[in-house]
Amino acid sequence: MMQVDQFVQVTLKEQLKEIFGYSQFRGDQEAIIHNILAGRNTFVIMPTGAGKSLCYQLPAIVSEGTAIVISPLIALMKNQVDQLNAFGINAQFLNSTLSKAEMTKVKKETLNGTLKLLYIAPESLTKVENLDFLKKANISFVAIDEAHCISEWGHDFRPEYRKIRGIVDDIGNLSVIALTATATPKVQLDIQKNLQMEDAHIYKTSFNRKNLYYEIKPKVDAKKALIKYIKNNKGKSGIVYCLSRKTVEDIAELLNVNDVKALPYHAGLDPQTRMNNQDAFLNEDVDVVCATIAFGMGIDKPDVRFVIHYDAPKSLEGYYQETGRAGRDGLEGNCVMFYSYDDILKLEKFNKDKPVTERDNAKHLLGEMVSYANLGACRRRQLLGYFGEYVEKDCGFCDNCLKPTHKYRAQDDVVLALQTVLQTDQRFDVTHLSHVLTATDNQYITSYEHNRLPVYGKGREFNENPEHWCSLIRQITIFGYLEKDADNYGVLRVSKKGMNYIEDPYPVSLSADHNYDQQIADGKADDDKDVTNSSGGNAYDEELLGLLKALRKKVAKEKSLPPYVIFQDPSLEEMATTYPTTREEMAQINGVGMGKVEKFGRQFIDLITQYVDDNEIEMDKDVVVKSMVNKSKIKIFIIQQIDRKVDLDEIAESKGLTMEDLVEEIEHICYSGTRLNLDYYVDQIVDDERQDEIFDYFMAAETDNIAVAMNQFRGDDFTEQELRLMRIKFLSEVAN
Ligand code: ADP
Ligand code: ZN
Repeated sequence: MMQVDQFVQVTLKEQLKEIFGYSQFRGDQEAIIHNILAGRNTFVIMPTGAGKSLCYQLPAIVSEGTAIVISPLIALMKNQVDQLNAFGINAQFLNSTLSKAEMTKVKKETLNGTLKLLYIAPESLTKVENLDFLKKANISFVAIDEAHCISEWGHDFRPEYRKIRGIVDDIGNLSVIALTATATPKVQLDIQKNLQMEDAHIYKTSFNRKNLYYEIKPKVDAKKALIKYIKNNKGKSGIVYCLSRKTVEDIAELLNVNDVKALPYHAGLDPQTRMNNQDAFLNEDVDVVCATIAFGMGIDKPDVRFVIHYDAPKSLEGYYQETGRAGRDGLEGNCVMFYSYDDILKLEKFNKDKPVTERDNAKHLLGEMVSYANLGACRRRQLLGYFGEYVEKDCGFCDNCLKPTHKYRAQDDVVLALQTVLQTDQRFDVTHLSHVLTATDNQYITSYEHNRLPVYGKGREFNENPEHWCSLIRQITIFGYLEKDADNYGVLRVSKKGMNYIEDPYPVSLSADHNYDQQIADGKADDDKDVTNSSGGNAYDEELLGLLKALRKKVAKEKSLPPYVIFQDPSLEEMATTYPTTREEMAQINGVGMGKVEKFGRQFIDLITQYVDDNEIEMDKDVVVKSMVNKSKIKIFIIQQIDRKVDLDEIAESKGLTMEDLVEEIEHICYSGTRLNLDYYVDQIVDDERQDEIFDYFMAAETDNIAVAMNQFRGDDFTEQELRLMRIKFLSEVAN
């Protein structure tokens, strides 16, 4: 059984700040953690990026013993373990890639309770030798990540996941926390049944990802549009999802040819290449990964700025998960899909060879995808409605809200549709309902005698547009006049709101469907008034942010960690807003705990201090004033360029300086205490031996005066500039 230190429980919030550097819990995090610490089963359904990991990480840290975290992918585990270690937490994973010595260490630290979290894949969990030592260990609780893998109705079904319950029982009497970001009501029920945790307290937060922008474009000239889009978002990280390996390869190549650093990722690549490509993306050596859906499950890169579906996805579950990888840090995240019905036909063809039930399921999922694409209703309302979440209003931040299709008013037709549902005894789906309204006879109409109903054929006036009624019925479902039957797929019933509406109707504004195929036939690409690129005036100091990011990248390289493990974008943005120059101030930044200050803080504090000095930024208590003198900007620029080993001639030229002026600037920088490494340049113009000579001279000389030095080296044909540069090198190495 789990034991929790009383003291620890009252100070959860302090722990949050101390360990993770966050000052507030998000959403239900605190309640969830209390539930876990109380030893109760817990079921967490929250969208990607909501902060699920913390829900089991924090209780694991403050509990005695070790928590087991079951997670489906090695990449995911490594990622989380790296992050926890960066926070100073003892976490490890257990899988077949570990050496014998590593394995022994993990076992030892589990048995003596110093390991707080043990990540393990379900396949490894079933191994007897692993089970035996876990039985002896003091396990605090079991967390099951990506729990939707349990359900066949989910889109990532994994048979091994269904064995977890039995194994957990074998290890001991442990409480379980299951977590997922994707669960239609049906999948949710499946998970609870399989884990025998019907008693679990369910924490379901809104799936709404407010910072994500959804847009669908007709697939016309898609390659050109893709390149244009990515070029407009230069330097940002993004994922392009394609249907086939071949398209992935082609698009990656196309992007590279067009100066976008991109790599492919698909199941056909050998594991090493795949891992390398993924790491290159995480480490920001490339900006874009082109991938089949195989990429990204559990990839916790918080600053993915766009997710593009070059081909239509197979299901809305998949689409929502994939788009969910954008903007996990709560900042910009753009989700664009290129859509054509041809892609849907291709997907249908793939489904042909599947067993009957699987095929039916796949067909339903695809149908939902098609109607999502075509409907003119707010995308967010559609998506959330699909996952069982009713939304009152349009979001104002999707393509359908910002660039609406033609709107029409309906009232009588809405009543008619609702009556059709009632008259057919609330047992049919949208297609059948529209058949009844348009008097489209088929065997169902006749066998149920629906051709005798009062509503039969009442909607004939729209027969030239067969989709009209389907569209209307789908929209009024999203608006809550109809509701879906959870037990019977596709079946619609009239809600309370719908009943009231029949009694007392009023005009409702509906949207015409998109006609992408027509647009494609006309060769008309969507008009790009890019709504998303209007970030405009940022509160932070962009120049400092650039320096901080460069430093982060450098530190990350040194430590072989992805940059965001060091600090995440929002933290850097905050630093570039509040200019922390002490350890205490640094620890105040969101996302920076004392652990991180200890580990990585120094260099960042130094950089900011330097920057504040150089730019004469006054910090008056809480008020931060930026006073940027132009001259200082040039200094920063020079420092950056030298850091990047740009030739001095080039630096001078790009700022319109003479070489003399530049050297003078560099001297200023150097004399104000900044270390500059000019070796890359000096080595080109002065050979080693002579460098040593000059170095020795300065070491022994009474003064660093250049005239004196020139006199000393008279006849040695050194230019003044060379001597000056050598002096800088000397001062940088010895004095700074
Ligand atoms: P999920 O597993 O739900 O997809 P994560 O656990 O990866 O989400 O968290 C998403 C991001 O939110 C991470 O960058 C994480 O550090 C951050 N985060 C989590 N909890 C908080 C919090 N209380 N305050 C600020 N940021 C948080
Ligand atoms: Zn919207």
